Amino acid sequence: MTRSSPPSLPLSGGCACGAVRFTATAPPTEVAWCHCRTCQRSVGAPAVAWASFPAGTVTWRGPLATWRSSDRAQRGFCGACGSSLAWLPDRAGMGPDLAVATFDAPEALAPTFSIWCGDRLPCTEGLDAHLPRSVDAGPDPA
Ligand SMILES: [Zn+2]
Ligand SMILES: [Zn+2]
Repeated sequence: MTRSSPPSLPLSGGCACGAVRFTATAPPTEVAWCHCRTCQRSVGAPAVAWASFPAGTVTWRGPLATWRSSDRAQRGFCGACGSSLAWLPDRAGMGPDLAVATFDAPEALAPTFSIWCGDRLPCTEGLDAHLPRSVDAGPDPA
């Protein structure tokens, strides 16, 4: 696939009901499909596209609720409508992943690889057949 021109900044988005909004002032460092079971369950989708941002480049408006999904990260969501919005790593200096589908212009953010393909659901087979696939975290820091 050919990489389209970089999305214009800032990038904004938010939850389905509008109570929680975010703004990113830098382009994402990477955009990837995640097929892990935690993403499947917490988002309610067979796979989730995430855009990763540098630390300190994302600001929030409204009450972002969180829950701890692993020993290294929390997940951010809207407590009013339940939209899954972010993966929030504990590691200092590591920025958040934001759910691509929650951006105001999600078409600007196309995944370029897939991770945690060991948990892949068969119905997603055609989704990312053209992309590099990892059975684990792949290029992401574990
Ligand atoms: Zn909401
Ligand atoms: Zn995942």
